[in-house]
Amino acid sequence: MSNGFLALKRIIETIFDIFTLSPKEAREKYDEFPNFAEQIAKLFQEDRLFEIPERLNLQLEIVKSFSPKVRPALDPYTSLQIGVFNKNFSDWEIGRFLNYPECCIRSFIEEIRYGFDERHLNELKTLSRDCIFITTAGFIPHSIFCEKSIETGLASIIKYNELLLLEELEEELAKALPHSHPEYWHHYYDVLKFDTSHIIFGRSSKDSII
Ligand SMILES: [Zn+2]
Repeated sequence: MSNGFLALKRIIETIFDIFTLSPKEAREKYDEFPNFAEQIAKLFQEDRLFEIPERLNLQLEIVKSFSPKVRPALDPYTSLQIGVFNKNFSDWEIGRFLNYPECCIRSFIEEIRYGFDERHLNELKTLSRDCIFITTAGFIPHSIFCEKSIETGLASIIKYNELLLLEELEEELAKALPHSHPEYWHHYYDVLKFDTSHIIFGRSSKDSII
C-alpha cells in the first residue's frame, strides 16, 4: 500500500466514522477538531451529504489503483460540502482533520506561510535539476525536506516519469468526480520544478515563474 493511498484512506475512514455518530458524539470523539467533526455529523444527519459516500469510495478505488507516493487532495466537492474551505473553523482544526504534521500547521499559521515562499525556493535550489517537488494540493510544508510530511504521504521529491503518473491520476479523478470548484479543477497536487533557468510553480510555463 502506498503512503499516498493510506493517507487518503485515513481521512475517508474518519469521515465515514463521523457519519455513524451524533454531532455530540463526534465532538467528543474527535477532540483535535471538535467543531469541525460536529459540523460534519450534523450535515450528515440533515441528509445534506448524501452524495458523499459514493464519491469518496470512488476516489479511494481510483487512488488505490495508481498507488501514488503522495495523496491527491480530498475530492474538492466533498471538501466544499463539509466546509474545509470555509473560514468557520480554525486552521488548526482543518490541519488536524487532514492529518497535516504539527510542524507544518505551526509554520502555516504562526509564520503566515500561506503559500510557497523564498525559503521553499532556496531549499529547492539545493536539489539536482531533474528533481520535482510535489505536495498534496493545498498543503504547505514547513520545509520541502520535512520528514513527517514525506512519511505521511503529503509531499515528496520525485522524478519526471513519476510526475506523469500523478498527472494521469489527476485526469482520471477529474473525469470520474466532476465538481465546480475552479481552483481545484484537474488540480490535486502542487508542483515545484525547474525549467532551464527558472523555477516554475505549477504545471507548465503558463503558470507563475519565479
Ligand atoms: Zn513539517
